[in-house]
Amino acid sequence: MIKRFFMLVLATALLVNTAALAQALKSGRGEAIKVIAHRGHWNVNGKWSGNTATPQNSLASYKAADEIGAWGSEFDVNMTADGGLIVCHGPKIASVPDVQKETFAKVRAENLSDGKSVPSLDEYLNLIKKCGIHPVLEVKEDYRDKDGYLPAFEKIAASLKKHGMKMENMTIISFSLDVCKAAAKKYPKTMVQYLSGNKSPKELRDMGIMGLDYHYSVFDKHPEWVSQAHELGMEVNVWTVDKKSDIKRMAALGVDQITTNYPVMAQQIINGTLPKKVLIIGAHPDDPETGCGGTMILMKKAGWDVKCVYLTRGEAGIAGKSHEESARIRVEEVKNACAVTGADHIFLSQIDGQTEITKERYDEMLKLIQSEEPDVVFTHWPIDGHRDHRICSVLVYDTWRRTGRAFDLYYFEVMTGTQTQNFHPTDYVDITSVLEEKHKACWAHVSQDMPPLFEGWHTPMEMFRGIENRCKAAEAFVRQENGNRIFEGPDSK
Ligand code: MG
Repeated sequence: MIKRFFMLVLATALLVNTAALAQALKSGRGEAIKVIAHRGHWNVNGKWSGNTATPQNSLASYKAADEIGAWGSEFDVNMTADGGLIVCHGPKIASVPDVQKETFAKVRAENLSDGKSVPSLDEYLNLIKKCGIHPVLEVKEDYRDKDGYLPAFEKIAASLKKHGMKMENMTIISFSLDVCKAAAKKYPKTMVQYLSGNKSPKELRDMGIMGLDYHYSVFDKHPEWVSQAHELGMEVNVWTVDKKSDIKRMAALGVDQITTNYPVMAQQIINGTLPKKVLIIGAHPDDPETGCGGTMILMKKAGWDVKCVYLTRGEAGIAGKSHEESARIRVEEVKNACAVTGADHIFLSQIDGQTEITKERYDEMLKLIQSEEPDVVFTHWPIDGHRDHRICSVLVYDTWRRTGRAFDLYYFEVMTGTQTQNFHPTDYVDITSVLEEKHKACWAHVSQDMPPLFEGWHTPMEMFRGIENRCKAAEAFVRQENGNRIFEGPDSK
């Protein structure tokens, strides 16, 4: 048992890298699954908002998708009231409430967040010619045309011709069955994919449409449609798949393409290069570092995606200072500590000294962990002299159960004897090689006056765990048993 955990950690991390040499995840047709950036690569660095340089459906986001090596980039084409073709999702863009009711000139006068005009299809086609990425053009439904056939699509076809481009070098997608039927009939060599999700592969094939691009919930309901489509010689795309678990599930179904707002992550999943993720969840600034700092530094060095989560900002931590002032100081100290460990950080919204367990707080923790999708979580051991530590532990444990034990859970110790109690480790990590770095990260919490806390508590703990682990210094953990259950009792709510 001794050292087993650390060996497991490193072995797993190394497997992540060696997997890159393995073959990419394959579709049911035996080809590597292709990743399509949804409205270009606009979600740069995981930032959904405040990302002004590469807005959705911009020339910049298309170029960015090409640069990251995504297989395809999707974009939306709308027709203005006077027959102009623009690239935007609509109906609203900037101050225009409905692009289909506005003139081309008026829509073009609007700027995206990168300061550029709403792009015209002409501009997009000029860019497409310079890029290697596969264009996936969505023909937006034209609700002015009640008879079914859509003038926008004819205009798009004429534009392509004017640019000397072939329709068959693109994928055409649309929620409109009429557009899909017309496109498939007129351009039989072009891959046309229907988006609405309400037709079986056979129904589409009988209409001459050889592709389906459905929301992943449709394939959850009809997983058999993927293999049926392949048997009929059709292509399967899925939108808009952003969660790690959803991407993995759709890949396992064998779809041909995955459309996503997270193309970099999707490519890493397909290629087997996505780093494993660990969350270290503590009640206050300093708890993740003091309890788990050496281990997190080693995991970071081994290629893990490491993130510290702080339940509070240490609001009540500094005598004589207001909550706001203390929080401001301690947030800065967290940033300095994370600069040493290499971890990212998140703060939840609880208050130091006043943490609470309510339905809302359980849900807050659940939401965090569902969005982060960690492989491993470390948190406080639940028997602890500090109420905030106990509460943090219980919130995480509850989430572990509610997610169906979706991650490996380990408990860390802090100031054992006065805070952590009754702690009998199951696993040890030799932190000797990173002891100095760990201490530097802990010392970054200047306002907490770390030297006496280390002299009195943490250093003896590191040394004693080292003696137990037959090394100079160690961190110790209790592993949450998952067990070989023969009977799963009812959860108490
Ligand atoms: Mg679209």
